Amino acid sequence: MSKKITLTPIGGVGQIGSNSTLIKYKNEVILIDCGILFPYEDFFDINYLIPDLSKVEETPNKLIITHGHEDHIGAIVHFILQYPEVEVHAPLFAKKLIERKLGHKKMSKKIHLYNRDGYIECDGLNVLPIQVNHSIPDTYGMLLNIDETSIFFVSDFKIDQKAKFEPNFDFEKLKKNSEGKFKILLADSTNIKSKNLHTPSEEDIFPELEEIIKNANGRIFITSFASNVFRIRNFILLAEKYGKRLVPHGRSMINYIATATECEHIHETKVLRELDQIDPNDPKLIVLLSGCQGDFKGAFRRVAKGEDSNFKVKETDTFVISSKAIPGSEKKISLLINSLYELGAKVINNDEAHIHVSGHPGKEDLRILYDQFSPDVAIPIHGETEFLYQHAKWIDDNYPKTTSHVIKNFDSVQIEGTKVTLVPTDSSPEPILIHGQDLPIEKSAISERRKMACNGVIFISINKESLSKRKISIECNFMGLPLLCLDHKEVLLDYLHNFLATRKVKLLEQTSEDLRVETRRFMNNILGYKPITIVQFV
Ligand SMILES: [Zn+2]
Repeated sequence: MSKKITLTPIGGVGQIGSNSTLIKYKNEVILIDCGILFPYEDFFDINYLIPDLSKVEETPNKLIITHGHEDHIGAIVHFILQYPEVEVHAPLFAKKLIERKLGHKKMSKKIHLYNRDGYIECDGLNVLPIQVNHSIPDTYGMLLNIDETSIFFVSDFKIDQKAKFEPNFDFEKLKKNSEGKFKILLADSTNIKSKNLHTPSEEDIFPELEEIIKNANGRIFITSFASNVFRIRNFILLAEKYGKRLVPHGRSMINYIATATECEHIHETKVLRELDQIDPNDPKLIVLLSGCQGDFKGAFRRVAKGEDSNFKVKETDTFVISSKAIPGSEKKISLLINSLYELGAKVINNDEAHIHVSGHPGKEDLRILYDQFSPDVAIPIHGETEFLYQHAKWIDDNYPKTTSHVIKNFDSVQIEGTKVTLVPTDSSPEPILIHGQDLPIEKSAISERRKMACNGVIFISINKESLSKRKISIECNFMGLPLLCLDHKEVLLDYLHNFLATRKVKLLEQTSEDLRVETRRFMNNILGYKPITIVQFV
């Protein structure tokens, strides 16, 4: 049997999100991660996008999850519904998050746990999880060993040598198990453009967070990524040290803290309270708010807009934005900050204090990985197309003996011994749009929504029985059009009456189409655009 291994990213390359990579070897068809992509343009209430697996001919028999971020596990419900027999492997924190996700859908699935010392049994392929640091507990890269070839796949990582709540990047296991082999690296490109050459440690922001918490006279509201459990753990330490009480507010903050407590990443503490155990006006209160990206349904937004039923902003409040705006969220967040200033609160943003760090490697962190692993071939992943090319250039400039390749989603990398062949795809399917109760929706339907939203709608209904009478009964209703259209309604109806009077109504279908065209033409003269027009005979 061929000893060829094929890697095909179906998401996460040329984009930040929907991380998913297919690995084929002998009888194994393994998917590493199955994440979602957050909408990158206005898709009209689309919740998220998932990779389209319809082009994948084989049925995946294993799903290996590297960590619990939504862009790595978010599509798992859809995936398990599509492949119910798949064997799922995950580290503890991701396992608990997935179980919670499946529980919401009244689904269940055995999830095999792996840890820092473990390996995942596959047919002739040795899969070794390598623990790394990131911005969520229990994050791993995967070392895939076949005979004399080692492939290290590490989509999200940082090197945090000061990490106090988890072990450091496990270079020892990585080196021990790849020594002397032909090595291929697929690594994180997220921060390749960052001016921060070394991504600071989570502990580097502790002193400034401590100063803020120590010196605040009133309540403190902190918004940060709810999945950044170790930062939350530091907030708990500071609350304990300065006699504060800490309450999570917002569904995702409550859920992540509950899951982290279950996994013992957060320990039981009397400073951590629930909403009904606190006085909302307690000046010793720290409120952890979810929705740090200004999400429309998030707690941060509700509080900052004065729309929260539990917390009303006061002049003695301090708001701490311990997160970074992801592209596309900047305006939403700055509007909330403006609103907080208007309400008289003090705001400390991450551009004026060192209160947020990334979970991805700067160039000097990448250098540590490249020096430790010494890849013969390197393929940038986890980044927009520009990042991948910049990462490849950095490899070419710094590691001339390493061959770099830039790939896109659905391209395949075939590896056999020391031979690496790229097989470009001729077409890559568009991701699937998910909305409502996790249901797919076609792009054509989104396009219709866009037209309705931008152009408004006119409903024309004609009484069929009246067609044979002298006066035809026509009704007209507008939706999403300016009020001034009402002034033209009678003229439009007269126009349509005259139009019908000049022709014999035989074919309803043709008449309906003619009326639609005439109405749109009439409205175009008034508005300068043509509303969607629906004509019905009733
Ligand atoms: Zn991640």
